[in-house]
Amino acid sequence: MTLVNEIISYAPSTGEEVGRYPDTSPEMIHQLVARAKVGAENWNTIGFNGRKGILRKWAAYIAANIDELANLVSKETGKPTSDAMLEVALAIDHLSWASKNAERYLKNSYRSPGLLMANMSTHVEHVPLGVVGVIGPWNYPVFTPIGSIGYALAAGNAVVFKPSEYTPGVGHWLGESFNHVAPGINVLFVATGGPETGKALAESAVNKIAFTGSTRTGKKVAASCAANLTPVLMECGGKDAAIIDIDADINRAAEAVLWGAMANAGQTCIGMERVYVHAQVADKFISEIGRLAATVVAGKSYGASTMPAQLAIIDAHIKDAASKGAIFIIGSADSVVPPYTNPTIMMNVPENSSAMTEETFGPTLAINRVNSMGEAIALTNASRYGLGASVWSKRNGKSIASQLQCGMVSVNSVMSFTASPTMPFGGIKDSGYGRIQGPEGLREFTYCRSVVRTRFNLPLNLTSLNRSAKSDNVVKKLIQLLNR
Ligand code: NAD
Repeated sequence: MTLVNEIISYAPSTGEEVGRYPDTSPEMIHQLVARAKVGAENWNTIGFNGRKGILRKWAAYIAANIDELANLVSKETGKPTSDAMLEVALAIDHLSWASKNAERYLKNSYRSPGLLMANMSTHVEHVPLGVVGVIGPWNYPVFTPIGSIGYALAAGNAVVFKPSEYTPGVGHWLGESFNHVAPGINVLFVATGGPETGKALAESAVNKIAFTGSTRTGKKVAASCAANLTPVLMECGGKDAAIIDIDADINRAAEAVLWGAMANAGQTCIGMERVYVHAQVADKFISEIGRLAATVVAGKSYGASTMPAQLAIIDAHIKDAASKGAIFIIGSADSVVPPYTNPTIMMNVPENSSAMTEETFGPTLAINRVNSMGEAIALTNASRYGLGASVWSKRNGKSIASQLQCGMVSVNSVMSFTASPTMPFGGIKDSGYGRIQGPEGLREFTYCRSVVRTRFNLPLNLTSLNRSAKSDNVVKKLIQLLNR
């Protein structure tokens, strides 16, 4: 007999049970948040150095046990172990950067007080929020949550983490590993469970929610947070485009865009889903990407779709495009063969088909020709999403990048912005708001406190009900002098 309700995780490729974990109840969530509040106070008092020591130990522990964690990620998500290893390696790099750089970016910053307040010393403090609730997805079950957990902890907060119900084992492993290196510190609690557990966390007394998941769920989470005015960071879905200009290195572009579309079975928020290629180089690009894609094999190059329900969405997008006249370069209208989707690349895909407007989250790619980079930019920006993009051009990469409505762009590469811990990560429009990673990602988990201190008293006292006409006149003259 089980005393607590459980959730079970299964291996997507075989359907085998991987593990059972508690389905954390709303009452338990409230208890964990209360315990985390106490932990946060102690964590705050040990300062940047104390926290750095513990977080670096944690990073070292994960690094030493990288194979074990990568195997678990592979089992629960279905991705190849080598991809899982890369994911964990990147997460460790971020954790390590956040712990080493928190002080540099969060220490008090001194500002000029301005002429009228010349007798004051002014500084801004970046104060930890308290307890951050992290709600994670399954597609990168280590890298994505660590982008919030690592930065929130380094900034001085405690965290209650609700991993995806598809990857509870990975979430549990992260919590246990932290407790192993920092027993009794009580600043990282893992609450496994489903949507109801996530909802309870969003409605609890946390000081911020860092949500990563679909736009649809993100809107629900934002609504839950609205009741308490709980601030929320939203990392949601995307429909990223690659733009290929006339002067692009076509071979490199084809190889990188193919990887960006197919890796992790296309289950990457910043994965390549659309391509706008200049008509003058389109044939060459299409022939090269088709040639390379012919060697991609579902179940070998990438794994099964982690979430069985996603297969119906992928299938619907492919069939919708086909019915509207799309041509298959690789794959067919019947590419989805559960639990896999065979590599699928289409061209001449109508812009109003769901394969162009909605996040597909499968190993599929839609390629359309354009007559100018202006057209490519306009079509890229027409999406309701605005997460990342990739631009391929020898001469105009930076200029094209600066005209895109999105949070991140890689020029002559794909997705590289995510691997650098110094670069903020996040989107606009339906892709969300707020940033993880980099200095911005550290500050996301703090609030600003402005402190203004009197250094000496001026004869001119402005903060008095007995202010004289003479002092008003001095202020007037001074401001007129400064603004001529
Ligand atoms: P999802 O929205 O189904 O679930 C995300 C998390 O929210 C899960 O932990 C789930 O249990 C929880 N949840 C569900 N309903 C909830 C509710 N009402 N209140 C609170 N929590 C709730 O997303 P998913 O399928 O796990 O992940 C895939 C999505 O995540 C894709 O859209 C992908 O683009 C996006 N994603 C975005 C980023 C990014 O950084 N922008 C990174 C990775 C994944």
